[in-house]
Amino acid sequence: MAVVLEERKDQVLRLENGAKDIVCEKESLAGSVSQRACVFCGSRVVLYPIADALHLIHGPIGCAAYTWDIRGALSSGPELHRISFSTDLTETDVIYGGEKKLYQALSELIDEYKPKAAFVYSTCIIGIIGDDVQSVCKKAAKEKNIPVLPVHSEGFKGIKKDGYKAACDALYRLMDENKDEEYLEDNPFTINIMGDFNLAGETWMIKEYYQKMGIKVITALTGDSRVDEIKKCRHAKLNIVQCSGSMMSLAKKMKEVYGIPYIKVSYFGIEDVSDALYQVALFFNDKTVLEKTQELVRSEIERIYPKILEYRKALEGKKAAVYVGGAFKAFSLIKALKTIGMKTEIVGSQTGNQEDYKLLREVSGEGTIIVDDTNPLELSGFIREKKVQILIGGVKERPIAYKMGIGFCDHNHERKTALAGFQGMLNFAYEVYSTVESPVWKWTQPDYL
Ligand code: SF4
Repeated sequence: MAVVLEERKDQVLRLENGAKDIVCEKESLAGSVSQRACVFCGSRVVLYPIADALHLIHGPIGCAAYTWDIRGALSSGPELHRISFSTDLTETDVIYGGEKKLYQALSELIDEYKPKAAFVYSTCIIGIIGDDVQSVCKKAAKEKNIPVLPVHSEGFKGIKKDGYKAACDALYRLMDENKDEEYLEDNPFTINIMGDFNLAGETWMIKEYYQKMGIKVITALTGDSRVDEIKKCRHAKLNIVQCSGSMMSLAKKMKEVYGIPYIKVSYFGIEDVSDALYQVALFFNDKTVLEKTQELVRSEIERIYPKILEYRKALEGKKAAVYVGGAFKAFSLIKALKTIGMKTEIVGSQTGNQEDYKLLREVSGEGTIIVDDTNPLELSGFIREKKVQILIGGVKERPIAYKMGIGFCDHNHERKTALAGFQGMLNFAYEVYSTVESPVWKWTQPDYL
């Protein structure tokens, strides 16, 4: 059996008779080498895809290692978001304060790049030295006449989820700034896509579906988004929340303040993407929209399903482990793996809550191990114990799989293949098939397989 630290035992759940509820939403155990990222990373991955904004990291240069590459959000226009800016604080700034440096950096960068807005991310050291980032941002905003938004994302103040919240707060401030501006729209069916970051062009695929259904997307938060669109998004009739971990706090706030209802969806896997589109069509309850949706879903399934069945033949009965950031994605992955004939033996997330784990429990089979905020030692132990052939996760899980000599499928920010939507399901089936069936494992496969 895999080694689990005594203090973490309650965060591991083995699905068998009489299994208790899992413990979650705890700070990571010091020394356990958690797979989680810091608060700053959480806020950055949410805001970074806003392509015409300036993203300035206030802190030492090391924090700026979280660059565009950690979330390769594509843009159909400006690409300012691909440049990493940092105030590069050093010892002297830590002693005397970094406010002057921040003001100077902001002024120069705004003059040089003419962004539509600027986000200033506070990192750990700012929380320690206590720079007044807010007043520097206020001063710069007044002088340069653009929104300059502080993002309170000091790395040590919590977990990645707190970074999501800090990002949502900044987005809310941005959309609330010009709330009296007029908005004219002919289409009565308007939505915002929330929690999609246009990795490998996924937002474009999803937007195309809605366009075919006759629905107008005001903005995607935040994939391929622009500052001006975000300012208008409070006029949408419905918010569609995909990555609920990152966007729920904003969806709730928009409901409370602007009265916009929201629905939670997932665009991964045939079942979930079809369900997402139908939920939106049913919300508007329009005959034409519904007919267009039925036609879209039918034609896409007809196109991809025969090919998926071919991959299924080779993958039937194979075993997988899934470890992702938000638990909502894990539900879809379990279902998508079932579609290609595979069983999920291990499933876990960095930021799941009690409700997420309850649902995860319902979709997981007997004997599955569910794990919250795991670490490499535990995860590799579970993989060995369950004899899985492929690990599905992100950049931090990849070395675990390769060191163990098993397949890996990247389902996180860094991937270059679209895995959302109908085409994404086909791409996913192909990725899993080509990885699991690769001849390379003949030389690397561990003795337990
Ligand atoms: S904010 Fe803190 S935890 Fe995050 S990268 Fe910077 S120093 Fe590390």
